[in-house]
Amino acid sequence: KAKEFGKGRYELFNSNMHHELLASIKLELDIKTAIKNQEFIPYFQPIYNLNENKIVGFEALARWQSSERGLTYPNEFIAKAEETGLIHNIDLEIIEQSAKILRLWQKKFKNDKLFITCNLFSGHFINSDLTLHISRIISKYQIPKNSLRLELTERALLENGDLVNENMTKLKELGVKLLLDDFGTGYSSLSYLYKFPFDTLKIDRSFINNMREDKKQAVMIKTIIDMAEHLGMSVVAEGIEHESEVRVLTEMGCQSGQGFYYSKPLAQTEIEQVIQSHI
Ligand code: C2E
Ligand code: MG
Ligand code: MG
Ligand code: MG
Repeated sequence: KAKEFGKGRYELFNSNMHHELLASIKLELDIKTAIKNQEFIPYFQPIYNLNENKIVGFEALARWQSSERGLTYPNEFIAKAEETGLIHNIDLEIIEQSAKILRLWQKKFKNDKLFITCNLFSGHFINSDLTLHISRIISKYQIPKNSLRLELTERALLENGDLVNENMTKLKELGVKLLLDDFGTGYSSLSYLYKFPFDTLKIDRSFINNMREDKKQAVMIKTIIDMAEHLGMSVVAEGIEHESEVRVLTEMGCQSGQGFYYSKPLAQTEIEQVIQSHI
């Protein structure tokens, strides 16, 4: 049938599909090998107390240090890793490495209050050994209470709500704080805020970026901050790129934030110099 459209076109279509399929299979194989070779490492973006201009913690963001592909960002591997379940290994690897490095920093900079927050794929909650792994990491590195935090997106809450809730509660019993990532985007439902035991809301970057041009966005941010406060949650602003944003957010009562204005996510050794001068 395809021949009716002309032979050339048929082959072009076919070879494109073929190429995509091969690339997709190769990516999966490469991710598997990379996990074995420990090529996934955390980069760290500092989270600041906006008022005091001091680092209070870090978000760990996965990077793939590949000899073939170079330094590779999540947008190139997270989707495939989620689809294949390999994300489970990557997330636990990032959490373990981050916990180890955090403990080192807490000692080196004499501050046990420094925290690390790691991103967690929602699908892990279906897998009930998650809390077991996390508790093992906490005791292995003797992580103080509240120092290890986990970020979930709203995507996690859509399905299997009861199971998610159960696992969240178990994590909280281990002293792990929970953050709702990218708040205000996607499926945002206010009911998530009281149905699930979150400690912190992370206001999505898109709100912060438009805040200066769009008065309505600023009103939204102020409302989110006030609501969080009333619910006993803290707030982290994501994607702060300008000093003026820091000023406005501080006036609105936002305690902490992160973004390129302060620092890009950096490798362990690079960021130690930043910590030294902002602690
Ligand atoms: P996210 O958790 O919302 O992380 C914030 C993203 O915004 C990061 O991108 C960070 O580099 C970027 N960012 C931070 N400050 C600024 C800023 O001021 N301006 C702009 N334009 N961007 C900023 P990244 O590292 O590429 O990560 C993208 C997403 O990949 C993350 O979004 C998270 O959803 C996912 N991800 C990253 N690491 C992991 C991981 O270890 N496990 C899982 N499951 N997901 C991860
Ligand atoms: Mg995050
Ligand atoms: Mg985010
Ligand atoms: Mg995001």
